[in-house]
Amino acid sequence: MTQNLTVLGSTGSIGKNTLDVVARHPDRYRVFALSAATQVDLLLAQCAAFAPRYAVMSSAAHARELAQKIKANSLSVEVLQAPDALETIASHDEVDAVMGAIVGAAGLSPCLAAARAGKRLLLANKEALVVGGEVFMAAVREGGATLLPIDSEHSAIFQSLPEDPATWPRRVQHVLLTASGGPFRTRAPDTLRDVTPAEACAHPNFSMGRKISIDSATMMNKALEVIEARWLFDLAPEQIKVVIHPQQIIHSMVQFVDASVIAQLGTPDMRVPIACGLAWPERVASGAAALDFTQLAALTFEEADATRFPGLHLSWQALRAAPGTTAVLNAANEVAVAAFLDGRIRFDQIHGVNLATLEAVVPSKPDSVLALLALDAQARAAADGLVRRLQ
Ligand code: NAD
Ligand code: MG
Repeated sequence: MTQNLTVLGSTGSIGKNTLDVVARHPDRYRVFALSAATQVDLLLAQCAAFAPRYAVMSSAAHARELAQKIKANSLSVEVLQAPDALETIASHDEVDAVMGAIVGAAGLSPCLAAARAGKRLLLANKEALVVGGEVFMAAVREGGATLLPIDSEHSAIFQSLPEDPATWPRRVQHVLLTASGGPFRTRAPDTLRDVTPAEACAHPNFSMGRKISIDSATMMNKALEVIEARWLFDLAPEQIKVVIHPQQIIHSMVQFVDASVIAQLGTPDMRVPIACGLAWPERVASGAAALDFTQLAALTFEEADATRFPGLHLSWQALRAAPGTTAVLNAANEVAVAAFLDGRIRFDQIHGVNLATLEAVVPSKPDSVLALLALDAQARAAADGLVRRLQ
């Protein structure tokens, strides 16, 4: 049966990889809707290639420009404007599956709309879960949605776990998230103050969006993934461990109570977890190269150095603090990363902004999306103030 698919954030790194996999299986997947923030020409090209019913842009000006170009190219795609339209295309009756590939907390509301509407939700947008936490998981349960992780580590854990979640608590001892260590794994910590955005975006194994590239360099990406794992697999903070594995061949592992470890391996190519989520529990070709074990030199592992990566530990701290603290951490980090990319603060100041925001903003049990969005705004304002003082 053909699945109707909405891709939220189709012009990004995950969005483009999703469409690459989809294009390999025109009999299985039909693109129903696409969305982008600002990249009009790329979204236009995607509309020409995939003929969706809807295309959503984030501003009125971009939506107008796209609509004109759609008309000039005689395409029959209806152009809508975010934010409301994102929820519409995520929850539309005719949609079977939604790829959540927007970056940041901006993806929370449309992903929640998909969850509430009981869709098959392929979640790359980890920030949505870090901000949404319990509220997000409740929406998935209540909406009867199927939540499938796309983040490679979480896809690996998902693939390594037994199928029945009811068995996880008694069988699983802990999960081990692998981390590449990013571009600065071996750089002298006292030189991190001089890092430029271009250096930080040069990830050793992946080409990714700018925000996640900076997060990989600070290892805040792994911190967000620890929080993501807590919610996806209902784990206690101490059941989530991180180990650096620079080759990125093992994408993560599960250790069971009998000390047996199950891991998922593959070449580092996001089309693998994307294809896995799209087809689950079936398997379809992803386009990724297969591993050649005779060519694998060595798989190495090391502990993350807390001096070099002080942000990593904020994840466990935030999980143990008041509910909502992970939303504060996420908001602070989004503001700090944007400020670094704009040249307003130094690379090594990202952590300071995150830490100080956590001290300044104490959440009072946000139990609804509105409360979470208000907390997100409050934390952004606090982080913004801190950035200004550093400038
Ligand atoms: P990206 O920056 O390449 O793409 C982001 C997409 O979201 C674009 O289509 C952009 O137009 C859209 N977008 C950005 N801001 C928006 C807003 N405010 N409202 C609506 N749309 C907006 O990012 P990416 O690397 O593709 O990452 C997307 C998500 O997937 C992130 O949450 C990231 O952490 C996660 N992820 C990415 C990778 C990867 O390899 N790139 C791996 C694992 C997880
Ligand atoms: Mg990841």
